[in-house]
Amino acid sequence: MARRKKIYEGKAKVLYEGPEPGTLVQYFKDDATAFNAEKHDVVEGKGVLNNRLSEFFMTGLNAIGVPTHFIKRINMREQLIRSVEIIPLEVVVRNVAAGSMSKRLGIEEGTALPRPIIEFYYKDDALGDPLVTEEHVIAFGWASQQDLDDMVALALRVNDFMSGVMMAVGIKLVDFKIEIGRIWENDFMRLIVADEISPDSCRLWDMKTGQKLDKDVFRRDLGNLADAYTEVAKRLGVLPSNVTHATKPTLIN
Ligand code: 5GP
Repeated sequence: MARRKKIYEGKAKVLYEGPEPGTLVQYFKDDATAFNAEKHDVVEGKGVLNNRLSEFFMTGLNAIGVPTHFIKRINMREQLIRSVEIIPLEVVVRNVAAGSMSKRLGIEEGTALPRPIIEFYYKDDALGDPLVTEEHVIAFGWASQQDLDDMVALALRVNDFMSGVMMAVGIKLVDFKIEIGRIWENDFMRLIVADEISPDSCRLWDMKTGQKLDKDVFRRDLGNLADAYTEVAKRLGVLPSNVTHATKPTLIN
């Protein structure tokens, strides 16, 4: 059997050639990295959980008309996606101050922001993904003004959807990162949500206890990462936690 062609290998995922033109297979690894890959570990089961969770979020987004690259899940670790031209920006949306924003601006983690704040980071590992302004984005040709407007609109719709979905299961969506790609349909270009949406790329805090249920568990050594992601998946009904092995009814003749 011919080996399939690897297109790209990142820190947490591998992309393979898909079965049809314009498609790719996205494979979720168990690798966890932080601080630009200075910290690395293998967390058994993480890839399976993120494959499921990204499927769940992207399917929901597709259903409400927010276009994503997701086509279908193939197996435990792989999904079929549309091939896109990735815009070299990480789009971060923040509802609550945390992480790099808290550090940069001296705002205490957990402070609610007056409105969702969108930031752009230039995707470049060697530079540590620096924060950039819209001026940089346009001047250096990474995206046009129209693209930026479309990216902001997409990011805000993802934020509303994700915030609602997470709030319904008692989890606060503090912030998240998405990546956006271009696809061409005939002569028209569209921007769609790409990459993944999972606890690897979001901050998720339990609304009652404040417990962290995202990659900060790994970044800050707060416990078992797979347990945190499993909790998110269970609450969303993505894992069959409600399957109980109830005793069979006693038949009375
Ligand atoms: P911060 O800028 O505070 O480090 O991150 C903001 C949000 O974007 C967090 O939810 C974080 O998980 C996500 N994020 C930022 N950069 C990356 C990245 O390179 N990879 C992933 N998976 N998530 C990121």
